[in-house]
Amino acid sequence: MPGLTKPEKLIIDEVNKLNFKFTKEQKMLQSAVQEYMKDKITPIAAEYDQKGAMSKKDALKFLKGLIPFGYIGTLVPEKDGGPGLSHVEWGIIFKELRKAYGSLGGITGITSSAITAIYNSENQMLKKKCLPDLLKAKKIACLAITEPDAGSDPSGMSTRAVLNKDHYIINGTKMWISNGTIADYVVLTAVIASDENDEGAIGQILVEKDMSPFKASEIHKIGVRSFPTSELVFTDCKVPAENIVWPAGQGFKHTQKSLTFARCNAAIAAVGIAEAALEAAIAHAKKRVQFGKQIGKFQMVQQLIAEMAMEVDAAELLSFRALSLLDEGELCRKESSMAKAYSSEMAVRVTSKALQVHGAYGLAEEYPLERYFRDARCFTFLDGTTQIQQLIIAREILGLSAIR
Ligand SMILES: Cc1cc2nc3c(=O)[nH]c(=O)nc-3n(C[C@H](O)[C@H](O)[C@H](O)COP(=O)(O)OP(=O)(O)OC[C@H]3O[C@@H](n4cnc5c(N)ncnc54)[C@H](O)[C@@H]3O)c2cc1C
Repeated sequence: MPGLTKPEKLIIDEVNKLNFKFTKEQKMLQSAVQEYMKDKITPIAAEYDQKGAMSKKDALKFLKGLIPFGYIGTLVPEKDGGPGLSHVEWGIIFKELRKAYGSLGGITGITSSAITAIYNSENQMLKKKCLPDLLKAKKIACLAITEPDAGSDPSGMSTRAVLNKDHYIINGTKMWISNGTIADYVVLTAVIASDENDEGAIGQILVEKDMSPFKASEIHKIGVRSFPTSELVFTDCKVPAENIVWPAGQGFKHTQKSLTFARCNAAIAAVGIAEAALEAAIAHAKKRVQFGKQIGKFQMVQQLIAEMAMEVDAAELLSFRALSLLDEGELCRKESSMAKAYSSEMAVRVTSKALQVHGAYGLAEEYPLERYFRDARCFTFLDGTTQIQQLIIAREILGLSAIR
């Protein structure tokens, strides 16, 4: 538009991107999933979460039950044996699962994302070998990027896979790996080198635990306690050369791409947890009586409810905008980082306010509030911290990078 300055143009572009609505089929999917969560998942969440990291046996049992709704390998097309759902549909089903049971949503989301990573590889042999069992929830997968000394800056990773005739020898440690202790397959991002003297470059290789053993130990953390989070140690771990997912030099690009999607997934997960906390707060505000009145009649409690509802709505809109842009084939770095940063920080605020509405009861393990609060606290770190998302947003707007 002639005469418009750049900032005005930017705002108009944003408004034009707000163009999505659930279809009739998507609403039916949402209802079916809500029903399943109400019957099968919400009632068992607290009990399982108190047990700590979920066993592989239990995880596989739950994953199998989720298959009919499209939770496993969600984005893999039907012609290749997957449910063939869209990114928006991913958001619909995963929001409900996170709302019911945050940890199970994590286990499922990670194996499903790892399936997408393998599916997107050009290595047909690898796809044929792993995808059938993963899609049937006979096996579980994880994605390993972070290291003890390489968190926000994965380019500083030191795990190396060095070619030796027909196999790679892997040495290094990965940290904070979701599903690490229960995974059969690890999609490992590492420096891939052709020999000891080669500096190498970042690529991805698939490690099959049965064939290439490594050490996996649980990291006990504040929230999403039954979602296994692990340290993986690879010591002279021998992996067939044919297991390359992305060769040296291509791994970083693909990791960055899958992180854009992972941020949308984290955003909608945080929305699910916050929405569960808001609904609990609404119910409590109507039921609890003090000074002879339902506490929901007091204006300060009403303010808390209104603030929570506004924030959950805003985060949900940001999340579905980013997911719908992915469906349109846009990389949407800015929008996915906005959704992730806002939703994860929002979930911390909202679960804290919901706890406040509950008074001391919110602190008791008999109520789900303390779990929502602890679970929400984990989201400002995974898939890139809030500060890293803010650097991405500013870089996309300014065209200037704070990092490199
Ligand atoms: C529950 C959970 C599950 C996870 N699952 C996985 C997984 O499955 N696979 C995987 O690979 N990783 C996983 N992670 C790791 C996650 O991706 C990292 O925690 C994240 O990338 C941040 O790295 P770090 O924790 O080492 O923090 P650091 O990078 O050490 O950051 C510490 C602090 O410094 C700030 N900071 C760093 N650099 C900058 C900068 N340039 N400007 C401003 N501030 C900066 C950060 O924002 C943060 O506040 C998981 C983490 C959690 C909590």
